Amino acid sequence: MAPQREWFEKDYYQILGVPESASQKEITRAYRKLARELHPDANPDNPKAEERFKEVSAAYDVIGDEAKRKEYDEVRKLGPLGGMGFGGPGGAGGATFDFGATDLGDLLGGLFGRARRPGGPGRGTGPRRGADLETDLHLSFREAVKGVTTTVPLVSDAPCSTCHGSGARPGSAPQICPQCHGRGVLEENQGLFSFSTPCPACGGRGTIIADPCPTCSGTGVERRRREVRVRIPAGVDDGQRIRLKGRGGPGRNGGPPGDLFVRVHVERDPLFGRAGRNLTLTVPITFDEAALGTRLTVPTLDGEKVTLKIPAGTPSGKVFRVKGRGVPDRKGVGDLLVTVQIAVPTKLSPEQREAVEAFAAASSGSPREHLGV
Ligand SMILES: [Zn+2]
Ligand SMILES: [Zn+2]
Repeated sequence: MAPQREWFEKDYYQILGVPESASQKEITRAYRKLARELHPDANPDNPKAEERFKEVSAAYDVIGDEAKRKEYDEVRKLGPLGGMGFGGPGGAGGATFDFGATDLGDLLGGLFGRARRPGGPGRGTGPRRGADLETDLHLSFREAVKGVTTTVPLVSDAPCSTCHGSGARPGSAPQICPQCHGRGVLEENQGLFSFSTPCPACGGRGTIIADPCPTCSGTGVERRRREVRVRIPAGVDDGQRIRLKGRGGPGRNGGPPGDLFVRVHVERDPLFGRAGRNLTLTVPITFDEAALGTRLTVPTLDGEKVTLKIPAGTPSGKVFRVKGRGVPDRKGVGDLLVTVQIAVPTKLSPEQREAVEAFAAASSGSPREHLGV
């Protein structure tokens, strides 16, 4: 029997070209006709026919058997996401359910009281999604704000470069397993029940490799260091994880590749800080500039300068907003927030001291009157 995980994905009626209401006899007739047409002996060196032959065999395995057909119809009634609700043994262990991450066959195996297929996950004949990979990327402050296209090194499983993933020595090809005829399973009738076991000759793959590839010893997979080119969008922040869909490990048996997660580390900048989509900059001004007002020229991250008008009587800590000079994100561009800070001289020349004392003498009142002490 084909892995039950495929039951959600495959329409066996459609594969055999029969209506769902077809009788067992009609199903058998359709299967025999297709099997004759598609048999590997009749189609030497035609991988497409071979693929179809396997599909047709797998379909007939299930709906050609009245009891299994009933089960299949039941399972399909649950719908493709019906499996979400299963909390039984071998469950996905969380709220999220990923077809690639958990062997649905095991889930259903628990549901229908069947034995788990030996060999564990990864031995299945169905498509398997590739692994999700994670890597770290260090960016300068500017790169994080502006976005950057760069490469990250990655060590991961990749299709073997010698055999291109087939597992067979170049010049040879995997053969249809003679014991299970490409079905990957063997059937055994025990009283009322019919049991399927993975074919021991091919490990459930349906094919055997007579002459294994010397590089990967027939696994079709090689650990390889590769450079992955990634585009980091503008506005990423320290500690963020960016998901690059489909850039992870390769899928098996035609499954989709996994995702690549890039954890971003952003260097600090000596001048600028970040507050979400805004950049921050602290600028010292003198007491007389704050008291009399001034024009203040400050840098922006682009290297361009902007001039701010500081009005007379500006308190220390006041924030001036320079529109559109912040961090770009999906919604637009943030602002540059300039905080002025009054710098107090730590040393005074005699002239300065005299001037400050004269200022104090000319001043009346206290800024602390409201304290009432
Ligand atoms: Zn076999
Ligand atoms: Zn290889």
